[in-house]
Amino acid sequence: MIDLHLHTTASDGRSTPEALVDEAFAAGVRTLAVTDHDTMAAVAAVAAAAAARGMRFVPGIEITAVARGRDVHMLGYFLDAGTGELAAFLDAQRADRRRRVVEIVGKLRELGAPVAVTPDDIEGGAGGGRAIGRPFVAQALVSAGHARDIADAFDTFLGDGRPAFIPRRGASPAEVVGLIARAGGVSSLAHPGKLRLDPIIDELIDAGLTAIEAYHPDHRDADVERYVSRARSSGLLVTGGSDYHGPGSGRTSGLGQVGLPAPDFEALAARAGRRTHA
Ligand code: AMP
Ligand code: ZN
Ligand code: FE
Ligand code: FE
Repeated sequence: MIDLHLHTTASDGRSTPEALVDEAFAAGVRTLAVTDHDTMAAVAAVAAAAAARGMRFVPGIEITAVARGRDVHMLGYFLDAGTGELAAFLDAQRADRRRRVVEIVGKLRELGAPVAVTPDDIEGGAGGGRAIGRPFVAQALVSAGHARDIADAFDTFLGDGRPAFIPRRGASPAEVVGLIARAGGVSSLAHPGKLRLDPIIDELIDAGLTAIEAYHPDHRDADVERYVSRARSSGLLVTGGSDYHGPGSGRTSGLGQVGLPAPDFEALAARAGRRTHA
């Protein structure tokens, strides 16, 4: 199984890098990419754990861009994490995440659902480079008794258009495609079936998009077929993975179930200029 969409505690996943590799291996994954939101802080640790298991590893990221007021998740693979431009961009992304959490917590106080959570609390102990976000506020709402569970916290307060929703600021998806290319990587539009903004695919192709994520747990068979054929007819490659967020996250079902066919992985690696066999 080849899984190119996985999260760790460096963003909103529940598994440490080491636990993630163990869980993926146990589920039958033998090639994996880590794709935390707006951070590559887990890349070195996942790479080391994967090497110890004899698994093939690809450094990755899931960057949140903004288009038409909506979040658009852009995946990047085979990146040079050390690139100055990428590192500075990700620092700015995480700073905006802190700004947003502070504003959300302020909104919640006004709404009579106070939570005692600060960016420092969330980041504390996890080391530098952790990307925070709404799932941590959702957990605080559950812990404080203001929501039944994470899904309820999003439905009642945090989801797009809900009372404590604070818009994000950020780069366009096309700008992120360019950034990923300049960092030596290849780009993929994440879970387009969940996004439901297919008209942006043409704009992204013009910007140099490499692939679209056809295989994802939130895609029905018809979505997979539609995006595979869209990719084939547009000269794009396809990517895929489980979007696993670890035990207790509510986003575990895809692990070992949803992945990328080997020929598609080989094509992606070749496009990135990487040989996958020694
Ligand atoms: P943020 O990064 O702060 O914009 O939060 C977005 C993240 O929250 C997504 O990547 C998901 O992991 C999670 N999320 C979004 N909507 C929901 C939902 N309705 N229920 C549970 N988790 C969600
Ligand atoms: Zn996430
Ligand atoms: Fe995503
Ligand atoms: Fe994801």
